[in-house]
Amino acid sequence: MSDRNVRVRFAPSPTGPLHIGGVRTALYNYLFARQHNGKFIFRIEDTDSQRFVQGAEEYNIESFKWLNIHFDEGVTYGGEYGPYRQSERREIYKKYVQVLLDNQKAYIAFDTPQELEAKRTEITNFQYDASTRLAMRNSLTLSKEEVDTLITSGRQYVVRFKVEPNEDVHVKDLIRGDVVINSSVLDDKVLFKSADELPTYHLANIVDDHLMEITHVIRGEEWLPSAPLHVLLYRAFGWEDTMPAFAHLPLLLKPEGNGKLSKRDGDRLGFPVFPLQWKDPKTGDISSGYRESGYLPEAVNNFLALLGWNPGNDQEIMSMDEMIQLFDLARCSKSGAKFDYKKGIWFNHQYIQQKPNEEIAEMFLPILKEKGIDAPFDKVVAVVAFTKERVNFVYELWDAAGFFFVAPQSYDEKTVKKRWKEDSAVQMAELADVLNSITDFSAAEQERVVMSWIADKGYHTGNIMNAFRLALVGEGKGPHMFDISNVLGKEETLTRLQRAIEVLK
Ligand code: GLU
Repeated sequence: MSDRNVRVRFAPSPTGPLHIGGVRTALYNYLFARQHNGKFIFRIEDTDSQRFVQGAEEYNIESFKWLNIHFDEGVTYGGEYGPYRQSERREIYKKYVQVLLDNQKAYIAFDTPQELEAKRTEITNFQYDASTRLAMRNSLTLSKEEVDTLITSGRQYVVRFKVEPNEDVHVKDLIRGDVVINSSVLDDKVLFKSADELPTYHLANIVDDHLMEITHVIRGEEWLPSAPLHVLLYRAFGWEDTMPAFAHLPLLLKPEGNGKLSKRDGDRLGFPVFPLQWKDPKTGDISSGYRESGYLPEAVNNFLALLGWNPGNDQEIMSMDEMIQLFDLARCSKSGAKFDYKKGIWFNHQYIQQKPNEEIAEMFLPILKEKGIDAPFDKVVAVVAFTKERVNFVYELWDAAGFFFVAPQSYDEKTVKKRWKEDSAVQMAELADVLNSITDFSAAEQERVVMSWIADKGYHTGNIMNAFRLALVGEGKGPHMFDISNVLGKEETLTRLQRAIEVLK
């Protein structure tokens, strides 16, 4: 195995929007592929036409573009192993179904849904397997002529895998170790349905992993129960030597820790479980996405990477390159990872602090524009510099810093009561004169001049600054006072002071 070039895949079924757990699976595959200079393949497993959802494939592709998770091969990316959409590979699967039939590893079954239902009521815990298959209508119990006649007469059938009973099947899992399951608990899984001439997930998945030379299957824990069957299929085909290594990732759990994370948890607690906003094509229902909710893709990746893996120390902030270097399947946990969405918000805050102010300002511009504000870029950058430490999301900058762009229309009552004293109007008028006399309106120079004026007059610094803040901001919040007046400029600062004196007296 080690001499083979690493090839991993993300293989979603387009049955709805990509879930955040799927994003984590794709991310781990991506990190693993990059670390080993391998290839990462995007395969669409769309053999279940009943569950096909319009737009799901495009949604996947757009999500990974946004997240900067790149594929080397696959649907829309091309490559030598295509087609990568399973619905375009029917002929290939038919060939391999025939191989299993020819080698007596599979058989044809004609049981109708009604007949199967009847069996289920007749026998408790009925399972189509070695103990029951000889009592059913299939190519093991019918003669070759009967089988041929049924097929030519157009009877629908399925092909079932013939699982030999009483055998310990070993799944070598890089996270869970040796997982052993006795084959008697497995049923004779349907591999192919004549009705739509399509294979089921199990057959298509194995054939494609083999033909696409997949070396490692890294996927969610929900697929672990299928793994023994997959091992048996590899063996039935005689492909044991190139069987991929398995790694089943831990479940994502509810934030409270008990049970699997679901969309309802997101609705209940107010966080997205999808990377992008999704509009259900049938119902028109909208589900929120990380992108639209204001998360940075870097923050989402970093947050997800640590849900089920850690680098072995308490380093939390990691760039994609660092994660590629440090990622290790052996350090993935077996037990579920609590989906601590508040940690996701924390990561977003951290990434906003880390990013250059210019970049955050670019993101803030459309929000300002929506509010009808057309401010010079330099000013927006300065505002971002002074306020970003107060926000978790870029859109929160409006609440935190809107006063830089619009003068207060009113003054917060509580703050007025507490901060606007009897002599505030007089003091603010004096302050206006002092500020007016300053030519270098830098924060430092203002501070120097204003502080010495306060000292000369024997005023109370807190009272002055609080009233000053109220006049410029309209309430008691905001960054350092002279940073505010500096960004507003002398003219605007004096106008706001004047207005506050008139209104508050
Ligand atoms: N099509 C499966 C899914 O939707 C792929 C599972 C696997 O990776 O084997 O997740």
